[in-house]
Amino acid sequence: LKVSFACIRDASREVSLIILVLQDITEHQKLDNMRREFVANVSHELRTPITTIKSYSETLLSGAVDDKATTMQFLKVIESETDRMALIVRELLQLSQLDTKNVDWKFEQVELVAFTSAIAKKFSLAFSEKNHNFIHMFPEEPVLIKADTNKLEQALQNILTNCIKYTPDGGDISLAVSSDDERAYIRIRDNGIGIPKEAMSRIFERFYRVDKARSRDMGGTGLGLSITKHIIEDHGGSISVESELGSGTIFILSLPLDKPV
Ligand code: ADP
Repeated sequence: LKVSFACIRDASREVSLIILVLQDITEHQKLDNMRREFVANVSHELRTPITTIKSYSETLLSGAVDDKATTMQFLKVIESETDRMALIVRELLQLSQLDTKNVDWKFEQVELVAFTSAIAKKFSLAFSEKNHNFIHMFPEEPVLIKADTNKLEQALQNILTNCIKYTPDGGDISLAVSSDDERAYIRIRDNGIGIPKEAMSRIFERFYRVDKARSRDMGGTGLGLSITKHIIEDHGGSISVESELGSGTIFILSLPLDKPV
């Protein structure tokens, strides 16, 4: 709490009024801490691939380049670490554009059943590569919402990619669309590794991962769900998660229906 005060004196120099200002700076400090933590995270995340690239190229330069097989192997590592850095930077840039509202939104009427079917189709190869069973459940009636199709697709892609990443081969993944009078719902469920209770409230935070090494091995950056949440909220929607460690996870998206006014 920041306390400041001022005394107002009248003509005879007597104090006639004291103004006391009590300012709650906890919110300000919290934001400041978040910013600091974010910068530390970005630096840390970029430093790891930079260190790898540096040491592999140094080893090549100091003679390893004479061996063709080693050279190929090292160059592949350098390439994949560069790709990783590029992905982190691309996702950070996207988050910053969302934060600063510097996004060229293209909202249009979207029919969710057809829209989610098309996304499911694009994912069918990825599902079958890991022998996942996939079910798409949808209502008979069309479900109309207003959405930016590219952004909404990206939001759903992030969740579906996570289902694939965090579900052992041969899992069950489902995508269900439904609606009530006001809202459309998209439920994406898997029967994968699940999320520990204490981590549930944190998975939408930037760079938060339950298991850093596992996420990294799967090509994750820890930014996907924070982008997804941002996109869904910018659609006037909300996202929630339910999970049981070892049994699976369900993400529930709720979006306002596009109704005639
Ligand atoms: P990442 O790039 O690490 O996947 P995300 O922001 O997409 O980052 O997700 C954050 C973390 O939430 C993941 O690292 C993982 O620990 C957890 N997570 C997300 N989706 C699932 C899921 N379907 N099952 C289990 N854990 C999940």
